Amino acid sequence: MGLITLFLAPSTFAANTIEIEQRFLQLENAELIGTMKEYRHSMRELQIWLAPDNDKQQNRYNALDCWMLQADTSELLQSAIKKANAYLSKAIAQEDKRAQSDLTLCRGSFYEAASDNVSAKSDYNTALQIATEINNSKLIADALSTRASLAALNGDLAQALEDFQLAQTHYELANIPYWIYYNLGEIGNTYRRMGDFQRALTLMKEVEQFNEKRGDLEAVNDTRYVRALIMDDLGNHTLAQELYTTLLTNAYKSGDKALISTMLVAKADSLLQANKTTEAKSLLNEAEPMLDPRFDPYSWSLWHLFNAKADYADGNYESALVHIKSAEPSMSNQDNFRYLAWIQNVKAKTLAKLGDWQQAYQANVAYNNTKELLASKLREQNTTRMRIEFDAARKEVENKTLKAEQTVQQARLQSLEERKRWQALVIGLSLILLILILIWAYRQFMRARLMHGMAMTDELTRLPNRRSIQTKALQAMNAARDAKTPMSLLVFDVDYFKRINDTWGHETGDRVLQKISTAAELAMRKNDCVGRTGGEEFMVVLPDSTLDSAAEIAQRLCDCIAAIDMKEIDDDLVVTISLGVAQLSDIDTTVSLLTQRADNALYRAKDSGRNRVEVER
Ligand code: GH3
Ligand code: MG
Ligand code: MG
Repeated sequence: MGLITLFLAPSTFAANTIEIEQRFLQLENAELIGTMKEYRHSMRELQIWLAPDNDKQQNRYNALDCWMLQADTSELLQSAIKKANAYLSKAIAQEDKRAQSDLTLCRGSFYEAASDNVSAKSDYNTALQIATEINNSKLIADALSTRASLAALNGDLAQALEDFQLAQTHYELANIPYWIYYNLGEIGNTYRRMGDFQRALTLMKEVEQFNEKRGDLEAVNDTRYVRALIMDDLGNHTLAQELYTTLLTNAYKSGDKALISTMLVAKADSLLQANKTTEAKSLLNEAEPMLDPRFDPYSWSLWHLFNAKADYADGNYESALVHIKSAEPSMSNQDNFRYLAWIQNVKAKTLAKLGDWQQAYQANVAYNNTKELLASKLREQNTTRMRIEFDAARKEVENKTLKAEQTVQQARLQSLEERKRWQALVIGLSLILLILILIWAYRQFMRARLMHGMAMTDELTRLPNRRSIQTKALQAMNAARDAKTPMSLLVFDVDYFKRINDTWGHETGDRVLQKISTAAELAMRKNDCVGRTGGEEFMVVLPDSTLDSAAEIAQRLCDCIAAIDMKEIDDDLVVTISLGVAQLSDIDTTVSLLTQRADNALYRAKDSGRNRVEVER
């Protein structure tokens, strides 16, 4: 059961806040294209979605409803004003400014329809003030555009153009395509009334294109109508009449009598201008039964005016005068000086033809006055127009300059950022490269040190090798000579080492050499340096040592080696060394000379029975 309800009324369940907002915007911004019936259906659906206790939503809906109220008859018009008032009171009580502005504007439009232009204008101004207060671009534009329409109808074209232009800015700010182009059409129409036909035509074509693309045929017809009026103004009556033919066809299709009669009268006007009086008369006759002076006094007056023109052209002056008398009061009420001047002109000419010179003269005076008024208005309009155009041109230049500056600034920022990025990249890469170089350099350094160490160190005993110890001996010799301090050299050789190898094996021999090396190093002073010169032969460099102290050190070393505990290798193993000592003297010009002298002592030690020290004096 619940499922069926859900299925039958999906709209009530589908709506959420976002959908409601979207629907509101669609309706307010005229984004839905379709018949009135479809529009009303969309509104009803929206009404169901709304929360009854949400005042803001309700008021917003009421404003939409206000604009949709029917006001075709004076009774309907009065009830529409009543309803607008009720809606407005609610919005005021709830301090809903947005709805207040919209509803005040809506009520004003009904006042205007009821020909109460004073109340209408007051409402438009109030609506504009509230909209400005809450800074709502669309409502500001709505109020300005509506006020401008009224001004245009009253012939105040300069004021109208100014308001329309300002409205345009606000519609563009609000970014509502439909209203942007609707208002642009109003601007075009105002230019037409001002006599700037080329500009009007350009704007109307732009508006028509938009509406064609949008598929809004009614709006396309509206612009076609304005284009037809412009064609007549430009004297291109053939083109104007072609447009009217299309418009009439569409009007007949719609079946809207008011629209049909308006188009018939409009086409009659065009035909009269082209001096096709008979055709014009036939259209005016067709329109007559569809016109209602109570509902549309304006069209009705026009109808009389055009009849008067036709009658005058045909020489039916009596009949022309009757039509003039019917048209005149309504034209004066409308404050529409253009038509008034027109009618006064026809009146003066007709009366003259009828021989009523006095009245003809008066009509001519009235005609001249109206012309004078029209001319002064035109001057005023031209001044305003020039000012508006000047302002618009200046604004455009300012905008362009601003935009250009922005572009330059943006480009500058962009290049700066790019440069920064490149810099960061370069720095980053440099750092990486530097680190790699450092790592490589460190490795090279370590490798070199290792190589150097390997080249200078004896692998078996880890003592300085022959080359290394000889270098050290040379350095010590030079230092001793420079500082004039004593320096001695000690060499020793393991006794009967061949026998050790032969008895315990070569490996044991190696271990014996290692033990001797360790013991020798431990027995020496800090600055003394022990090195292996080859096989089982060693050298010790003794800085700051006289021959006596060197001999002492040598004896201590001899005892120390003999005392090494070799039990872990074999109980019977005893290792001794023989040592030779020589002190640096003036004859020792090279390391090898000093070594030779120490060697001599060593040989003597061997010869004297080994395990002993001999000195070379
Ligand atoms: P002397 O007391 O006269 O010095 O007799 P000796 O046997 O020690 O002398 P000789 O020069 O005849 O022998 C030295 C031996 O040392 C010869 C060689 O095989 C051995 N030798 C040399 N270098 C090494 C080594 O690195 N390891 C071992 N295990 N033996 C070595
Ligand atoms: Mg030897
Ligand atoms: Mg030996």
